[in-house]
Parts: sequence; structure tokens; C-alpha cells
Amino acid sequence: MECHYCDSDAEITVEKDGVRVGVCKTHFREQMEQLADEDWVEDLEEQLDVERTD
Ligand SMILES: [Zn+2]
Repeated sequence: MECHYCDSDAEITVEKDGVRVGVCKTHFREQMEQLADEDWVEDLEEQLDVERTD
């Protein structure tokens, strides 16, 4: 699967509202920052143990 936002290979696949979307790490972090208020992102962060640099 390719990244939803660029031509890179997707390294992470997320599922939102039943739709699976692949993203590369760069765009994963980018989107995560934009969607930080949504619960599914918080769940995902826990699953992946993502470090945030606020
Ligand atoms: Zn990308």
C-alpha cells in the first residue's frame, strides 16, 4: 500500500470509520498533529508508543 498523501510506501496503516488508510511515517506524524483532538489518534499513539515532541 502506498501512502495516502505521497508516493512513498506506507509504513503505517490506520483505520478510521471503517476506511483503511496507509501513510508513511512523515505523513503519519503530520496528520496526527492535525487530528490530535480525535480519540482514534490517541488510541493509535498508545498502540504504537509514539513519542511526541510538544
Ligand atoms: Zn507520505
